[in-house]
Amino acid sequence: MSEIGPEKIPLREGFWASATPESGPRLIGSRCTNCGEIYFPTKPKGWCVHCQQPTLENMLLSPRGRLAAVTLVRQPPAGGFYHGPVPYAYGMVDLSDGVRLVSQLYAEDLETLQAGQEAELVIRPLCEDEQGRQVITFMFTPVA
Ligand SMILES: [Zn+2]
Repeated sequence: MSEIGPEKIPLREGFWASATPESGPRLIGSRCTNCGEIYFPTKPKGWCVHCQQPTLENMLLSPRGRLAAVTLVRQPPAGGFYHGPVPYAYGMVDLSDGVRLVSQLYAEDLETLQAGQEAELVIRPLCEDEQGRQVITFMFTPVA
């Protein structure tokens, strides 16, 4: 498989997988086989915080959910860790699996983002690294 354009690298390994070309990207979470609690991101040591058992296994999370909260950020955050465009949006997303996570949000017009919107997972460019590679990350975008 070859792609035209700059090399793409994930912001961090292990956040998502490309399950199949048909299903598209899916976030990787941890699910407790004892109590059913779901976590994102994964808990690498495999311990469930809810029931205190070493019974977590990785699962592919639902790519669909609902925006629970939306925040627009109009100034780059302090600390120099964020290299993407400003303004940007982030918020909380309730996946249909029952897990709530924090994610960057995407829309052509950020002002149209609202809590309550149905949203789906997309993998989008965030910025370029110092070697000219395109850094990509997961975001949620409203479903039309
Ligand atoms: Zn548990």
